[in-house]
Amino acid sequence: MAKGNIGVTANNIFPVIKKFLYSDHEIFLRELISNAVDATQKLKTLASVGEVKGDLGDTRVRVILNKNKNTLTVQDHGIGMTAEEVDKYINQIAFSGAEEFLGKYKDKAEAIIGHFGLGFYSAFMVADKVEIFSLSYKDDAKAVHWSCSGDPEYTMEETIKAERGTDIVLHINSEFSQYLEDATIQGLLTKYCKFLPVEIAFGKKKEWKDGKEVELDEENIINDVQPAWTRKPADLTEDDYKRFYHQLYPSQFDEPLFHIHLNVDYPFHLTGILYFPRIKRNLDVHRNKIQLYCNQVFVTDEVENIVPEYLTLLHGVIDSPDIPLNVSRSYLQSDNNVKKISSHITKKVADKLAELYKNDKEDFCKKWDDIKLFIQFGMLSDEKFYERAIGFALLKNLEGQYFTLEEYKNKVKDAQTDKDGNLVLLYAQNADASYAYIERAKQKGYDVLLMDGELDVHAMSQFEQKNEKLRFVRVDSDTIENLIRKEDAAKDTYSDEQKEGLRKALEACLPENERLRFYVNCEAAAEDALPVFLTQNEFMRRMKEMSAHQQGMSFYGDMPDQYNIVINTAHPLVKDLAAKMTSEEVEEVVENKDGDKKEGEEAPKQTVKKTVWTLSGEDERLHQLLDIALLASGQLKGEALAKFVNRSVSMLG
Ligand code: ADP
Repeated sequence: MAKGNIGVTANNIFPVIKKFLYSDHEIFLRELISNAVDATQKLKTLASVGEVKGDLGDTRVRVILNKNKNTLTVQDHGIGMTAEEVDKYINQIAFSGAEEFLGKYKDKAEAIIGHFGLGFYSAFMVADKVEIFSLSYKDDAKAVHWSCSGDPEYTMEETIKAERGTDIVLHINSEFSQYLEDATIQGLLTKYCKFLPVEIAFGKKKEWKDGKEVELDEENIINDVQPAWTRKPADLTEDDYKRFYHQLYPSQFDEPLFHIHLNVDYPFHLTGILYFPRIKRNLDVHRNKIQLYCNQVFVTDEVENIVPEYLTLLHGVIDSPDIPLNVSRSYLQSDNNVKKISSHITKKVADKLAELYKNDKEDFCKKWDDIKLFIQFGMLSDEKFYERAIGFALLKNLEGQYFTLEEYKNKVKDAQTDKDGNLVLLYAQNADASYAYIERAKQKGYDVLLMDGELDVHAMSQFEQKNEKLRFVRVDSDTIENLIRKEDAAKDTYSDEQKEGLRKALEACLPENERLRFYVNCEAAAEDALPVFLTQNEFMRRMKEMSAHQQGMSFYGDMPDQYNIVINTAHPLVKDLAAKMTSEEVEEVVENKDGDKKEGEEAPKQTVKKTVWTLSGEDERLHQLLDIALLASGQLKGEALAKFVNRSVSMLG
């Protein structure tokens, strides 16, 4: 028997590694199985060039639990190792690699450990003792048994082993007994090994029979050795892509809308399939579903530093050996390969969308509502993507027709350009709530867009920034005559004092609500508009809506909702009310601004005469007109609504 000290200088680095790798110790299984798969692949390569002759026999990798002996074994029938190779690869290289790793990443190991394996060495994170039984494929090779109990000392001796390949036996530490549970191991295999290229067997297949689970004779293969992304697109049907989607996300019932098969050889290697999910709202639910693989070994599902943020909304797989996994996450973004990969994916995604739009507009329009949020997010966060997407980003009007911005501008420009040359695009967020306003717009021959998406307000602002003289206004944000002004505002014949009187009378009727603020104005709108109606300032409303999604804008979010109440002085009912107003002359003492103000004395006063108009005996009718306006805008609630109902009934009596 040979004894020796493994090639580490630190006397005992096992406690160190156990301590700070605590959170991610589960990766040991991935590392050992990766080695087993590599050894099997190497054997196959040697066979293909004639260096290994004859039938390779069973090449499955097996994971075997022995609860009596507290061991977990990873078994392969790959190339195996001779005693010299164990000495070289395990005693010297593996351990020195581990030591180097520790030295380098001591401080930031937490952040990267899940991605950079410690290889064989990681077995010691969960095992007190690790044994290797190996028989090399080489002619006349002798089997070797190596054993190490977690200190720098190991033993190595010749042994008897019938089958070619390697068994790695882990004597699981009592603290980590979960790794002796079938369910834990099954879970880890599903997470990390689902798509490895060599069959991995774990226990036997099970079936439900007469309400009981029974074991079948067949081995339980946990992986698909040829997942869709490793195959040629030409060999795959639509159904294959869908099946693979459900293989990736077994608990996802929705079908993806379409997919992109990625395949790059130069200047970096990358394969993968990205899927577009239906995204109606709630962006966060869809984030971080993309799985990152390295040669079919699962690495992570946190790809936010590898692809732009909006692309993390896509689902699917990216497999690339060229994404450096042994660096910290923040470093990734500045890595050149990662930058190239990111812009390649961005371009591919945009190209695919452009192609879908070009080839089948009708189908693209049907899918638009489900991909709109994704595309808007992309346009808002990536200038390059905006430029590409502007050709297929769509606007939808209330008739359910879809247009690109250019198409829509052409459609409405004759009717909806105002006297100053601004092209005004009208929109509604809720067609029911804005019904009356929409009708008035239609009467004028205008078109109204539907903008009810989560990012629509942001998207509109972006369009406005990029297009001079283009404005989006919600159809109820002012009178339609004011929204698209064709000539100077109509004048009425009321005096300022009279309007002041009307305003005061109406203000006296306003409901009290600290979340609402009303500003009352007199304005000659159209005769057939409502006598009193509400409008809401476009800018303020948008700011409030944007603040719902953005940090640092809570100032707007905290403000009460503001509405303008317009008294339509052109309406016959208002004219009638005004005709019933009475006026009187009053004297008022006011500050005399022209007078000399002396130090320490009160400002000089003067008495002025003023006409004050009041509306007496007609308060109820005015109150009723106000309530109708509030009701039409969905703002009449609670006590005010009950009073309105009662008043209406009594007025009819
Ligand atoms: P890495 O796999 O990154 O090279 P490891 O520490 O995991 O590092 O393994 C060191 C070396 O030991 C491997 O490169 C390989 O040559 C050898 N090795 C490990 N496991 C096996 C195995 N199951 N069969 C054959 N060789 C193995």
